[in-house]
Amino acid sequence: MINSKDINDLHPKVKALAELFIAKCAEQGVKVIITSTYRDAESQNALYAQGRTATGKIVTNAKAGQSFHNYKVAFDFAPVIGGQIPWNDTKLFNKCGEIAESVGLEWVGRWQSFKELAHCQFTSGLTLADFKAGKMI
Ligand SMILES: [Zn+2]
Repeated sequence: MINSKDINDLHPKVKALAELFIAKCAEQGVKVIITSTYRDAESQNALYAQGRTATGKIVTNAKAGQSFHNYKVAFDFAPVIGGQIPWNDTKLFNKCGEIAESVGLEWVGRWQSFKELAHCQFTSGLTLADFKAGKMI
C-alpha cells in the first residue's frame, strides 16, 4: 500500500511544478509542505473506506482510479507557521493557491464543487477516463 508524501513520486513534470510552487511560496515568506503525492489503488480504497466502512471522517469521494493522485499528477500541500499547519486559515491557503496557479498548476480550491483548498494538479487537459485508458501527460 503506497500513500506517499514524497515529491519524487510525482510525474517529473508535476514534480518540477511543485518545486517551483514551493520556491515561489518561500519567496513570499510562506513555508509550504507537501502532505500527499502518489496513492496506489489499495491506498485510495482504504481512504475511501474511511468514514464509510472504516472509522474516521469521510475525506474523499474517490475510489481507486478516480483520483488524480492515483496517476502521479496531483499533490496536496499545507502552509506551515511555527511548526503548525493553520488548517482554518483560508486566506493563507488561497494565497498559496494563487501562487500555484501562477506557475501553471490547477488549484482545486478554485472549484465550486469538490473544492479542496490543499489540492493541486497538472492534467494537461486529460480527464480521469484518459488516465484510466493509459494516457499520460
Ligand atoms: Zn489531493
